[in-house]
Amino acid sequence: MKVFKFGGASINSVERIKNVAKIIDSYKGEKLLIIISAMGKITNALETVADAFYSSDKDEALQLFYQVKDAHTGLAGQLTNEPVSELNDIFTEVEWLLHDKPVRNYDYYYDQIVCCGELLSTAIISNYLAAVDIKNRWIDVRDIIRTDDNFRDANIDWNYTQQKVKEVIVPLFETSNIIITQGFIGATDENESTTLGREGSDFSAAIFANMLDAESQTIWKDVEGVMNADPKLFEDAQFIKTLSYAEVIEMAYYGAQVIHPKTIKPLQNKGIPLHVRCFLNPESTGTIISKQAVYDLPPIIVLKNKQVLMQFSSLDYSFAEEALAGKLNELFAENKLRANLSQNGAISLLCCVDDIPAKIEKLALAASHLFDVQIEKSCELLTIRHYNEEIIDKLTAGRIQLLLQKTRQTIQVVMTSENF
Ligand code: ASP
Repeated sequence: MKVFKFGGASINSVERIKNVAKIIDSYKGEKLLIIISAMGKITNALETVADAFYSSDKDEALQLFYQVKDAHTGLAGQLTNEPVSELNDIFTEVEWLLHDKPVRNYDYYYDQIVCCGELLSTAIISNYLAAVDIKNRWIDVRDIIRTDDNFRDANIDWNYTQQKVKEVIVPLFETSNIIITQGFIGATDENESTTLGREGSDFSAAIFANMLDAESQTIWKDVEGVMNADPKLFEDAQFIKTLSYAEVIEMAYYGAQVIHPKTIKPLQNKGIPLHVRCFLNPESTGTIISKQAVYDLPPIIVLKNKQVLMQFSSLDYSFAEEALAGKLNELFAENKLRANLSQNGAISLLCCVDDIPAKIEKLALAASHLFDVQIEKSCELLTIRHYNEEIIDKLTAGRIQLLLQKTRQTIQVVMTSENF
């Protein structure tokens, strides 16, 4: 049994959906569990619906949702004349909600609205596959993946989910070789929809791969495989054929957009290899990620823009030790912020964080009772694994370095091009 994951770019047009069907068909006779994301930029579009709804602009929310609806019905009609029976139920679920007034927090509504992207794409693709004689079963993953109610970043209930996989998915494979379901979403024990964080479909696939003891997981992308840098930023980015779990979890942790950071653990725990392959060139083997250590890697570069360097200095010259640092950690957790890099000084703490203005302001305000807070905006965080002096010089040239940390394998620099 293999697990496949197709992302939004692989299904953003009639041609690409047909291409996905061709790839699936080339695995005739094999058992495949297929996780699919929302089409193209639909998750972004649904986020704007959620925003409008939460600002109590019902008409705008409905208007925006009708555009999403039209995009899906239009595409479904172009693929086949067979009606997609699930679509109306999925549309109605959201439309009902949009007629209400928001009385709960934003994250809750976000999940109830945004989750429909994956439900719609999978229903349409499952229907198309059936129409071209690729027998398959469509599953609403919210009946399988149980989470807590930490909306927008829900945590998996591993025991319950494993039980459901055993009860529902395993027997289904006795009658169907292909199961189609959604990435990114789950549900609470009260049947409220939840999401696992943006780009979470890779993680959904890994959950199933782990629980089904899959022989492999394949993520089908629009690039050859994993590169040593983002090819959109670095034109000489190199393709890497093999990588270890350890290397990839580090890359994802530092912000490389290759794979959702939570994907590796469930695969590593069961020794399941992860393939990253190109849906535009399915003959190519792509990158294989496994437990095998890989030596002689090129420098691996991750550049994160939109960073803020925050300096928290104690108000009365107290040392910034455990007690104060602990309080700061609590404030970070309460505001759902994570320091991408931090450093302690005698009476101050430096933290580099993603620039999410509303969260930064809240954190700064809450911390101002304990610290003098200084904020440096418009920073970049450069991480290079397997660095050499030449690459550091090249990538930091002309920049002011605000904070630098170096281990034997990794160097991280917070830098800015702005003068004080
Ligand atoms: N559709 C979701 C997103 O765009 C999840 C995913 O694609 O993995 O973030």
